Amino acid sequence: MACGRVSWKYLGRKKVAGVLAAAGIVMGGVALASTASQMTPDDVLAKLVAGNKRYVEGGMTSHNLPAARAGLAAGQAPMAAVIRCADSRVAPEIVFDQPLGDLFVCGVAGNIPTTEIIASLEFGVAVLGCKLIVVMGHSACGAVDAALEHRHDTNALPGNLPALVDQIVIPCTVNADPNAPGALDAAIACNAREGIGGLLRGSKILSDAVEAGTLKLAAGVQDLKTGRFTLVE
Ligand SMILES: [Zn+2]
Repeated sequence: MACGRVSWKYLGRKKVAGVLAAAGIVMGGVALASTASQMTPDDVLAKLVAGNKRYVEGGMTSHNLPAARAGLAAGQAPMAAVIRCADSRVAPEIVFDQPLGDLFVCGVAGNIPTTEIIASLEFGVAVLGCKLIVVMGHSACGAVDAALEHRHDTNALPGNLPALVDQIVIPCTVNADPNAPGALDAAIACNAREGIGGLLRGSKILSDAVEAGTLKLAAGVQDLKTGRFTLVE
């Protein structure tokens, strides 16, 4: 993860704002020549929403041409980070129609904020300067479906899956009725929403950045049939 010259080991928890500023200075040469450094967190979210509209309508504009690679090789200054599910149908760069270098994407089944995901996001925010974190659920999520089905017996799942699914069961499915209409969709939305709470509880670095107004957290669900990404409150 050799991106940027701000040494991660010197990142004190009370120095988020300072490090963000330092990251902006250090990386202000090539990568931050983009407009990302000028945008507010709300601007970044609006840009993703607009990109998703283009994706839904088939009017995508991000082509990742060869000429862009030299700039990307010199550095990165992604405007947003995304926690996505481990699913072949969920690709934030495509769904939000953004070029390589603009999104700092972390993935795990069920898009849950594990310790490793949070650590990655802390780097993305405090060193690379991401202004938005999107917890990105999706319709027909197998991980959430498994959590719903095995809400009372996750140990019946094979391999290491119980440890993962347990993180979805509480609080989103343990008391749910899997046969109720819309139960899976409700659990998927719940799981995305809970991701925000998990980030705030799990990281002083991220919660301080939110408090300082330099970072926004958002959660939503991608509909696999329409492609539309809908924010959940
Ligand atoms: Zn999934």
